Amino acid sequence: MKWKKILTYSGIIILAAMLVLIIYMYPFYHFFFSANSIQLNNRLTILSGAGNSGILETDSAIVVIDTKMGTMAKDLYELANEKAGKRKILVINTHFHGDHLNGNHVFKGCPIYIGRYTKEFATKNIDKKNMPGIFISDSLVIPLGDETLVLCNLGQAHTFDDMVVYLKNRKILFTGDLSFNKINPVLMREDGADIEKWKSVLRQIPLRWQIKQIVPGHGDPGGVELLNELTEYFENMQSAVGNPEKESAVIAKYAGWMKMPLMASPERTLDFLRKK
Ligand SMILES: [Zn+2]
Repeated sequence: MKWKKILTYSGIIILAAMLVLIIYMYPFYHFFFSANSIQLNNRLTILSGAGNSGILETDSAIVVIDTKMGTMAKDLYELANEKAGKRKILVINTHFHGDHLNGNHVFKGCPIYIGRYTKEFATKNIDKKNMPGIFISDSLVIPLGDETLVLCNLGQAHTFDDMVVYLKNRKILFTGDLSFNKINPVLMREDGADIEKWKSVLRQIPLRWQIKQIVPGHGDPGGVELLNELTEYFENMQSAVGNPEKESAVIAKYAGWMKMPLMASPERTLDFLRKK
């Protein structure tokens, strides 16, 4: 009888814990795995889900920015391929994180560009089947008829070699995870995350390019205010770290920004700064 009671209570506790976990994880997973298509501009489609991907149609080629992962990568390829017809597909990865690059193998045979990570880092962190073929250390201009792409490796910020893609005629910038829209940033020191360098990159961007719209790594497209909001976030976190009252205030201030379970939250950002 006693064992029966223990088993019943254990079952209730496990179920309650699972329920709490589901409630905690659901908003992020729902957001992460919802692939919505936005027609951002003439012949430019954004596909959300596992990071924002772009499909740009030009006179001479189709450009895919970030390749997602799993079945979402296959859907992305099918859409790009359908638009391409006989035109070739160029692929660009803004950085090496899996949600932006693990679909590369689906684009087999297409030229794939990424920032120039060291060979050792790339081999350690990117699967052979998803390995890009062209590594950009500075910048590269690709004229494609009615649009000109500017690929620019901005160096260390979110990772060791973050690359942005500027659509010169449309004045649209794809930042990868250098910017988000009201989402806590992912900070992994082993991947190269460096807040001071990140802030400096965010300040540089509007000085280098005229920007009408920004497509962040995750979240809705916006304007240059996305860059300023993230700089302000970092500055607020930096001025609060180590002061319990200020830390609580800054955690409350950003309560509305999406968290990524076990990856990104105001608490994790403060922790990152604490372990500097
Ligand atoms: Zn990332």
